[in-house]
Order: sequence, then C-alpha cells, then structure tokens
Amino acid sequence: MTESAKTGTPTASEVVENRSFFGHPRGLGTLFGVEMWERFSYYGLRPLLILFMTAALLDGGYGFDRTTAGAIVGIYGACVYLASLPGGWVADRWLGLQRSIWYGGIIIALGHLSIGLSAIFKQPAFFLGLVLIVIGTGLLKPNISAIVGDLYPGGGARRDAGFSIYYMGINTGAFLGQIVTGYLGERVGWHIGFGAAGIGMVCGLITFKIFAQRTLGPIGTDVAVPPAEQQKAKKIALSVLGAIIIAVALVGSGVVPFNPVAVAAYSTAGIISIVILYFAYLFVLGGLSPDEKKRIVVIGVLFLAAATFWSAFEQAPTSLNLFARDFTDRVVFGFEMPATWFQSINSFFVIAFAPVFAALWVWLGKRGISPSSPAKFTAGLFMCGVAFYVMLLASNKVIAGGGGSIVKVSVWWLTGSYLLQTLGELSLSPVGLSSMTKLAPRRYVGQMMGVWFMASAVGNLIGGLVGGNIDPEKLELMPVLFYRTAMSLFVATGIMALLIIPLRNMMKSSEVTDH
Ligand code: GLN
Repeated sequence: MTESAKTGTPTASEVVENRSFFGHPRGLGTLFGVEMWERFSYYGLRPLLILFMTAALLDGGYGFDRTTAGAIVGIYGACVYLASLPGGWVADRWLGLQRSIWYGGIIIALGHLSIGLSAIFKQPAFFLGLVLIVIGTGLLKPNISAIVGDLYPGGGARRDAGFSIYYMGINTGAFLGQIVTGYLGERVGWHIGFGAAGIGMVCGLITFKIFAQRTLGPIGTDVAVPPAEQQKAKKIALSVLGAIIIAVALVGSGVVPFNPVAVAAYSTAGIISIVILYFAYLFVLGGLSPDEKKRIVVIGVLFLAAATFWSAFEQAPTSLNLFARDFTDRVVFGFEMPATWFQSINSFFVIAFAPVFAALWVWLGKRGISPSSPAKFTAGLFMCGVAFYVMLLASNKVIAGGGGSIVKVSVWWLTGSYLLQTLGELSLSPVGLSSMTKLAPRRYVGQMMGVWFMASAVGNLIGGLVGGNIDPEKLELMPVLFYRTAMSLFVATGIMALLIIPLRNMMKSSEVTDH
C-alpha cells in the first residue's frame, strides 16, 4: 500500500498524472466546480446591482441616479480585479494557493450574507458586503487560476486545453447565475436574489472542502519564501486590511466624502500607474535573471493587449446592454425577452465553444503547429474588432432607418457580435491565464495572475466610462463609439501581429523551464 492510499491524500505526481476528468486530472474537476460556484455568485449579483440601486425607494431600491449607480458598479468591478494583485501576493508570500482560495471563499460568502442582511441593516451592510466580496475575490480568483497551471507541470497544449475546460466552468456559473439570481432578484425580491448568490458561494466552499484534499493533494499548499519572510508578509497584509477597514468605516460614516463618478474617472490612470510601478519594482528589486526579465516583458505586452480587449468586451453591461434595451427588437414568438437575458449569450457561447477550442489546441499541438500565445492574442483582438464592426453596421442601420423615429434591429446583430466576441475571448482569455502560469517565475506566479486581472480592472473602468456615454437622445454618438472601439482593436491587432515573432523568441526560455 502506498503512503497516499493510506492517508487518502494523493502525492503531487499522482495528482498531475490522474486522467479521470475528461482526460484531465481530477483536481481540475474540483477547481472547475469551485470556480463555477464563485462565478455563479459574482455574475449573479452583478446585473442586479445597478437595477437595485436605481430602483425607487418604493420598489425596495435606493433611488440612486444612473450615473452614480453606474460608477459604483464600475468601481466595484474594477476593485474586484484590482484586489487580485494583493491577493496573489498574499498567496505567494504567506498563505499559499489552497488556503487563499479557502479563506477568499469564506470572505466572499460573508460578503453576500452582509448584502442579504442589508434588508435589515440597510446601506452600511450593503456596502460592507461589496467590500468583503472585493477582498475575498482578490484572494480566490487569481490563486484558483494559478493552481490550474500547477496541474500541468509539462505545460504546452495540454495546459492550454485544461484552461479552456476551466473557462467553461467559469461560464457555466456565470450563465446560471445570470438566469437564476437575475430572475429571483427582479421578479421575487431583491434580497432573495442576493441570498441565492450567497448560497452559490457556500456550495463552492462545500465543493472545496469535500474534494480539495483528495484531488489536489499537496499542489498549491507550499509557499516559496522562507518562514521569516512569510511572517513579514502576514504583518503587512494584516496592516493593509486594518487600513481598509478604517477607510471603509470613515467613508461609510460620512466622515470622508466619496464621489463615485470622480473616483471612477481617476481610477483608470491610478491602476495603470500601479501596474507600471509594479513592473518597475520587479525589474529593479525583483532579483530576476535576464531570462526572467524577458518573460516579464512578454507579460507586460500581453497585459496591454488584454486591457485593450477587455475595454471593448466589458461594454457588455453598458453600451451593448443599452443597445439591447433600446434598439433591438426583442420579441421572439410573441414574447419580449428581457434585455438582461442578452448578457448570458456570451456565457452560452463560451460553454458551446470552449471544448472546440480545447480540442483545437491539442489537435494543432499534436501536429507541431501550436500557435504561440501572442498569435492567439492577435486572433482574439481581430475577432473582437470584427464584432464591434458588426455593431457599427447595426447602429448605422438604426440611424439610417430613422427619420426621427427609432428603428429596432433584429436580435441577430447582437447575437452575431457576441458570438465573434466570444470566439475572440476564447483565443485570448484562457490562453492569457495559461501564459501567466507559464511565463511567471515560480515565486511570482500568484502576483502575475494578479497583474493579468489588472487588465480586466482597466477594461471594466474604461468599458464603464465609454459605455455609459451611450445616450438614446444622442443617437449619432453610438456609431462613433463602436467605430472607435473597432479601430482600437484593429490597431492593437496590427501591433500584436508585428510582435508575434520577437515575443516568441523572448518566450523560448520558458519552454525549457516550463512549470
Ligand atoms: N468572464 C471571465 C471571468 O469571469 C473573464 C472576465 C474578465 O477577465 N474580464 O473570469
């Protein structure tokens, strides 16, 4: 009997050699399940936020104006991703990946509980809940993504395929969350919807508790820095947490004023500065070898490409949402679909196409013609550009048909655009996750995942700021927005295409020391 059979905890090699989850390690199934529930709760809550905050007091909402509520949602979305950087750091230097996921999940569940209890404790409980979700997601999201990479020490096409399957879990959760909690929140009661999102996160915690030890074993339990450093990191993390609590209390009690619209506008510059400073710090004080520095440069370029991509893609809840509501003929078989249902088209297509992409990467890999990640990014940017070009055509159709009155276009315009965006997303997002685990020096893998999610933070803010400018009263602005979005994506496609070969050369060293 082996040691692992006695304790029920597999060894690291047993974990990575296992093939019982669709040909992938069983641990991937665990991560799939936990992240599915976490996204169920995240995407389940997100569309309700703006509806709830802008709903009149009589309808149980807060009666906030749209700009303020929109800015709050933008800041929340950005902060959720922003928190990935400290979250990754805490995992690398103190808690390790597995414990960060566990504690992150608990904090998220407490956040949802607090939002649910805002039925009794009003706004302080609501905003405290959002802050807790930000902190918890920062701990969970980058680290659960990093641990997926650890299941494939051989890297290569199999790891990309593993990330595509994992990405399906993300979107299964997003799809169900949007449908279930959206319905409950809107039709039954706001707080029932919030509560359902919280129950989703609790299911994720239960999944982790039951399966983590026996399917992940020791993977993601180690911390690559010495104990003294870990103690230092612990002190820093707890002090920062204390500072956050004080800041939240000051804002919450009205001692420090908070203007959401101004904060949203300044945050974009703030985030980009943080990332630049972080890269500068790594180069100067990170103790990196020349090879590692080259790979960090590649990460920097992928970051910029991803930020451009997400700035278009994250217009889904803003400009594309408005387009669905105001300019799309949503009647199908005599039934008018709610505009928010369009939000789940993307998740649906991801679920449908992720296996195709996973198989495609393996198929190409077997024939020795795996496209490099910069090449896949180029394709992703291009497809998203075409998606927004489709929206440009659709918006021109709205205007051309007009003559004063608004013409509503067929649902196929948005559906087609979302399909192209999804194909782009599948060429970029799971590939980006996989590349971070491949390119980052081992001791920085959690943090690099944090850097990756920083691109989503920028995207959420820019997508929120430009998407919020769509005004049904000023129709002519709409094609301008879609034209600019498409053009930015095409310019980024051109630049990435030129960089494919140099980046591939800089990445070569990572193929050798792939981890
Ligand atoms: N939909 C994906 C997720 O939730 C990616 C979102 C993003 O990074 N902007 O993980």
